[in-house]
Amino acid sequence: MAKNFQEAVLNQVKQIPEGRITTYGAIAREITGSVRAARAVAQAVAKNPYPIIIPCHRIVRSNGDVGGYSLGVEKKTRLLRAEGVEIKGRKVVNFEKALFKKELRFVTDRMLGKLSTWLRILGHDTIYAGDINIEKESVEGDEDEDKVIAALAEHEARILLTRDKNLAASARKRGVQCVQIKTDEVMEQLKELLRHNININLEPVPVRCSECNARIRKVEEGEEDILREKNYVPTSMIGEWEFWICEHCGRIYWEGSHWRNMREKLKQNLFLKRKALPKE
Ligand SMILES: [Zn+2]
Repeated sequence: MAKNFQEAVLNQVKQIPEGRITTYGAIAREITGSVRAARAVAQAVAKNPYPIIIPCHRIVRSNGDVGGYSLGVEKKTRLLRAEGVEIKGRKVVNFEKALFKKELRFVTDRMLGKLSTWLRILGHDTIYAGDINIEKESVEGDEDEDKVIAALAEHEARILLTRDKNLAASARKRGVQCVQIKTDEVMEQLKELLRHNININLEPVPVRCSECNARIRKVEEGEEDILREKNYVPTSMIGEWEFWICEHCGRIYWEGSHWRNMREKLKQNLFLKRKALPKE
């Protein structure tokens, strides 16, 4: 457990970009779902075998104090200042601005196709196991699907979502953040994520193709012919509505009743009940 925890902590630390900071508590929450492990996180980074390369100097206390450092607080302060973090005395001055807010990215197993679609609709980069070419994606030369998606999660800092207890356990062993989904219905599954403190967006946003996960872009004036080629596009609304296209698979999106319905569904299921989410 201790070694896995150490690895999980260092995996989190590697993701903090230059000029950004995070807190011991935030990393603790990321890994365990609670800030109580903040001290354990501090102890784990104190044993960081590669300071600077694994940039644990970018972790500070939640009150803005720069906190400790294996190479000395002065060195930590110098490193942070050189990266653009403003520090007065021992305190980070531009805390909110410098705080690293992690983009939530996912990889899902084959049982979670519908959840993957919804996460993409909410704007989250989500790789679905059923969409990937196992042979091509295999980073470690292994072609077992479970191992490939666990490796993807590890190498691309994605949260692994799975229905499979064994996959969840083996992924956690390699330091991957993982949620074992326990319900069948997609709204319930989204609620499970919230209960695990995974703060997904709750509004559909036109940024990602729900079919293939690629980014989508607005169809500009003068490009309307692209829309007329597709028989499912409500062509009478060209010029009225905004349309988006997925450059990867060609799918067209628009803010029609489809998205309104989804927004309604989310509202009914998630927004209203969010405060009353039962604790597990
Ligand atoms: Zn697409």
